[in-house]
Amino acid sequence: MDLRSGRAFWPLTNGLMHTYPPLHADERADVLVIGAGITGALLADALRAAGFDTVVLDRRDAATGSTSASTALLQYEIDTNLVDLIPMIGQSGAERAYQLCRDSIDAIRALTATLPDDCGFKERGSLYYASNRKDARVLERERAARQAAGLKVDLLDHRDLKARYGISAPNALFSPDGAEVDPYRLAQHLLWRAQERGARVYDRTTVERLDEGRTDFTAHTDRGAKVHAKYVIVATGYEAETFLGRRLAQLKNSYALATEPVGREPWTGACLIWETARPYLYARTTADGRVVVGGEDDPFNSPAKRERSLPAKQRRLERKLERLLPDLELEVAFAWAGTFGETKDGLAYIGPKTTGSRLLFALGYGGNGITYSVQAARMLTAYVQGRPDPDMEIFSLNR
Ligand SMILES: Cc1cc2nc3c(=O)[nH]c(=O)nc-3n(C[C@H](O)[C@H](O)[C@H](O)COP(=O)(O)OP(=O)(O)OC[C@H]3O[C@@H](n4cnc5c(N)ncnc54)[C@H](O)[C@@H]3O)c2cc1C
Repeated sequence: MDLRSGRAFWPLTNGLMHTYPPLHADERADVLVIGAGITGALLADALRAAGFDTVVLDRRDAATGSTSASTALLQYEIDTNLVDLIPMIGQSGAERAYQLCRDSIDAIRALTATLPDDCGFKERGSLYYASNRKDARVLERERAARQAAGLKVDLLDHRDLKARYGISAPNALFSPDGAEVDPYRLAQHLLWRAQERGARVYDRTTVERLDEGRTDFTAHTDRGAKVHAKYVIVATGYEAETFLGRRLAQLKNSYALATEPVGREPWTGACLIWETARPYLYARTTADGRVVVGGEDDPFNSPAKRERSLPAKQRRLERKLERLLPDLELEVAFAWAGTFGETKDGLAYIGPKTTGSRLLFALGYGGNGITYSVQAARMLTAYVQGRPDPDMEIFSLNR
């Protein structure tokens, strides 16, 4: 599958930070991680820290799949409002899912503090505006639900919103707990550190088949070499069907652009911005002062159509951003698009294929995929240690 089109900003600005060889000889490990995107990188780092002998394989160059296309807003806010998630999965699970995503932002802050640079991590509030009057009432209920779950959030009416952010909308929720990061840089640093600590990372090597034996798996690659491992973690993002045997997410095209640096804080606090409409428009800034805006999702995934639609989608994103923030003068520098996956409830799929299985999945589907990947690394490392985490029920593949 072609995971992205156009000129994604992160790999262009960072270049090939690290390279890894392809797999030419058989390997043996405690854990094989398939996929070296942000999810595989977080897993490799956590597994090595816990002392597991780890091999990572990727069919592309490391971190050049969806991770390169991500706009990487780090939000505890799930694509499904808390008020809608509660009736779907129950109050305690829904609240816990939101709280875990908030904890993930703290975890990324702590992680970046231990890496060679901050990976563009910046704390940013998150502004969630009502796209219409009806949604303004939903946001009133959403505020109450989030506050009851112990999440910090304020409601701004349309006057406050206009005065503070220059945005014309009926109302908005503002959450102080959010952040932005450079996802490619973060994944690259984590993988490199995992390798320095003893993990073996190979890219340009595709896992074509997995055979399950009594005590371990054998992964057969397109290069003929095999990996034998007690546990296999599938962190292949939107290409997990080979190993799942079924489709768990609806795949779409999503579009994004980055402007030239704007030379000043483009809006108050440079907070993350998104809206209640689906698909939603979203925006953030970068460490070098650009505005990144995304949205305009197609309800299908077609790399060929995505390629053709990119110029028109770029213009629509520009116009929408200009309407939202009329005082900004923006010049587009890069535009790209990528495959994006949504689930029925907005939650990720994390856990064993079936109860007790040693074939595990880390599928951070949804708009806050990266915060899910942090939880996947935490929970699946605990699982391999023989301490399954009760939170994993929320993200079960068989829910
Ligand atoms: C336009 C866009 C905007 C987004 N915005 C946000 C956002 O603001 N915030 C957020 O949190 N998330 C966002 N996401 C989602 C986020 O990018 C994803 O959740 C995240 O990148 C997934 O990372 P991953 O490592 O799981 O997948 P990937 O980065 O795709 O990595 C999976 C890797 O597995 C490898 N692979 C696949 N099959 C095989 C195989 N058989 N053998 C070997 N290797 C294999 C691939 O080559 C790939 O490198 C966005 C996504 C897109 C497309």
